[in-house]
Amino acid sequence: MSGEQPPSRPRPPTALPADDHVHSQFSWDASAGDLAGTCARAVALGLPAVSFTEHVDLTAWTPPAGGWDWTADVRGRVDDHGRFLADPLEVDAYLAELERCRGLFPGLRIRSGIELSEGHWHPDAAADLLRRGFDRVVGSVHSLADLAAAGAHREFGHTLEQRSPLDAVRAYLAEVSAMARASTPFDVLGHLDYPLRYWPTGAGPVPWDDLEPDVRDTLGVLAASGRALEVNTSLPMDVRLVRWWHEAGGDAVAFGSDAHSPDELARGFRAVAGAVAAVGFRPGDDPTALWGRA
Ligand SMILES: [Zn+2]
Ligand SMILES: [Zn+2]
Repeated sequence: MSGEQPPSRPRPPTALPADDHVHSQFSWDASAGDLAGTCARAVALGLPAVSFTEHVDLTAWTPPAGGWDWTADVRGRVDDHGRFLADPLEVDAYLAELERCRGLFPGLRIRSGIELSEGHWHPDAAADLLRRGFDRVVGSVHSLADLAAAGAHREFGHTLEQRSPLDAVRAYLAEVSAMARASTPFDVLGHLDYPLRYWPTGAGPVPWDDLEPDVRDTLGVLAASGRALEVNTSLPMDVRLVRWWHEAGGDAVAFGSDAHSPDELARGFRAVAGAVAAVGFRPGDDPTALWGRA
């Protein structure tokens, strides 16, 4: 199950894909993160590779109406205007621990990476950081414009104070399209279905029929950019999104658990890998690589 297998060796049908979206203690919101513990679990599960994509959130967030209620569990600061800004990634310490774990787990492919939020809003800072040469860059949107203050932003969950759930999803998809059109480097789009983590239980089922044109438009932009789509298993991903990705001409799929602790690694992978294969994507000869079109 290591990356050292000869490329021609067929993969067993039960093999899991690489987990290409994982957080460790170096992410500002992963207090239960454990890079070495996650590698040990990856080996126990038989994963071919794991990508540590640590948070890089450069956008300051306007506080919600009731004020911040989660800052005790995370690393960041609240500025004089009440805005929250996450602590920067400690790149040297992170890469040193990654290298130590590569020595401890030589049969596991361990990729360095970041999850870069709204990189298109912060091109200079992103370019500076990316000069460090990460193996994998997941591009994500976690923020939307604050409708009450020009130039300000809100963390997505708090935008529901200003937008209906449907409007919030549409605004999210539009921002993802803008990010995919921009030249900011990223390899894989993270969690296209992130807004659904915040879909209110009282709002009824997600109206996919209404959203389909917006989703297809965003997937078309992403496919044209040559980037990959992530199947994020924080939520059970609706396989329609993967089918629309295939129909949009998307070339590659990544699997990401978005684990913030070792026990969340590769959650749901076995079931979702089967669903993604049924849509028409397959692992290639290299078990550590992204899946491509069948
Ligand atoms: Zn994310
Ligand atoms: Zn993440």
